[in-house]
Amino acid sequence: MKHVVVIGAGQAASAFAFKLRALGHKGAITLIGDEPALPYQRPPLSKAYLLGDMSRERLFLRPQSSYDEADITVRMGAAVTSIDPKTQQVYLGGEGIAYDELVLTTGSAPIRLPAQIGGDLQGVFCVRTLADIDAMAPYFIENRRVLIVGGGYIGLEAAAVAAKRGLHVTVVEMAERILQRVAAPQTSDYFRALHHSHGVTLREGVGLTQLNGDDHVTQAVLSTGETLDVDFVIAGIGIRPNTALAEAAGVKIKNGISTDAFGATSDPHIWAAGDCASFPIGDTRVRLESVPNAIDQAEIIAQNIMGAGIVYHAKPWFWSDQYDVKLQIAGLNTGYDTVVTRVGDKPHSVSHWYYCGETLLAVDAMNAPRDYMIGKRLIEAGKSPASDVITNPDTVLKSLLS
Ligand code: FAD
Repeated sequence: MKHVVVIGAGQAASAFAFKLRALGHKGAITLIGDEPALPYQRPPLSKAYLLGDMSRERLFLRPQSSYDEADITVRMGAAVTSIDPKTQQVYLGGEGIAYDELVLTTGSAPIRLPAQIGGDLQGVFCVRTLADIDAMAPYFIENRRVLIVGGGYIGLEAAAVAAKRGLHVTVVEMAERILQRVAAPQTSDYFRALHHSHGVTLREGVGLTQLNGDDHVTQAVLSTGETLDVDFVIAGIGIRPNTALAEAAGVKIKNGISTDAFGATSDPHIWAAGDCASFPIGDTRVRLESVPNAIDQAEIIAQNIMGAGIVYHAKPWFWSDQYDVKLQIAGLNTGYDTVVTRVGDKPHSVSHWYYCGETLLAVDAMNAPRDYMIGKRLIEAGKSPASDVITNPDTVLKSLLS
């Protein structure tokens, strides 16, 4: 019976293992993860957990008893150091573990502020793991001064938590505007206004040049030459897929571990899913950094290891919580040329609809769950209502589905 080994024990790994078992796989399943904690959900880390509104226990995807019942071996605190695809072994230092099929769900690692500019001073944090959040949590005390480097979703969520907890918050974003990489100017404008209304100082087009302090950070120097006194710093400047193991094993890498539409890599017995994997959508290759993608892709691989031969059709969606605003995103906005706005009937309720020509690509819905839901269904069905139909407040969105 086949032994299926999974490297990385996070969102994708957990989804994969339980799906494989549910599909009737009789052989051994082993998850190997280098973090000490059982697989957990990351989204609350920069939201409810950091705010203190969610207990640690609720972060875990499943308790140990679920793995025991499903006969899934979980080895936590164990880093895989190499893969030998010829002999089909993974190595944890000197210990070898044989596999028949290997699934790489190694996730991604945050880009760190370089040590040369003080990125290794105490009081400088990233936002990726439970340990990162537990380390920064004691700094979240009223009136402390935090500098957040990076105005993407992670940085803005951390800013929202800090502002809610009464800290003095400054966000610097090197690009012209916050969320520039991922959203239209209209969405940036919405979140800029939201953060301003909560007292956050947003500096766009401004970078970080240097962090100073003896052992602990005390001052930041900005690209404008200004200095800021700070108590701590959070970097939310992006992630890189964890591809080193796969690359060293000779597996093809292209913007992540390159897979085909079935989740298979260039090695016949190695598969990849989640943040670490890129896969084809039409003529392009994408890598998505989201929970729904990690789960869906992992479950497709489980089916394909069982011989189903199913193509992965991604249905991208994402969310972000900041203050009392829930942003929900459907679709991928890459290549958009027009954005139209539909104003909702509740305060702060609005949605931005991205088009390329007449084709609807994506929707950013802020406190507008209906717009999100219908936008998602339209995109998945390949339907593109005319943009003036969307902006017309008299349009009953649901009617567009029929
Ligand atoms: P992960 O869950 O990161 O798991 C990978 C695991 O592999 C890690 O534990 C890693 O340490 C381990 N690993 C790596 N190399 C090795 C090795 N050699 N040996 C052993 N183990 C190894 N997504 C959303 O959709 N919505 C959100 O609101 C959202 N918010 C987020 C907030 C935060 C703070 C963060 C960090 C992420 C957020 N995401 C969100 C993204 C989402 O959490 C990720 O896309 C998802 O966790 C990816 O799952 P994964 O299994 O690919 O990787």
